[in-house]
Amino acid sequence: MATVKRYNIFCQKCNQKFPIFASLHHSIDVDGWIKDKAENHDCKAYADQLAKERAPRALNPIKASKKGK
Ligand SMILES: [Zn+2]
Repeated sequence: MATVKRYNIFCQKCNQKFPIFASLHHSIDVDGWIKDKAENHDCKAYADQLAKERAPRALNPIKASKKGK
């Protein structure tokens, strides 16, 4: 049975470390996989996510998501 591990991946594009939880098959080249994840990092989405986590609680996420439509 595979276990899920947390990998900290550093993105050189946005200079951020981001965690990925994954259970990798033993045949996977982990270094290559990490490199691939770093290269395909969605920097904008991650920046948005960080901004949301740092945002004050006053912002209502339900209202905010409805507003977007
Ligand atoms: Zn990035």
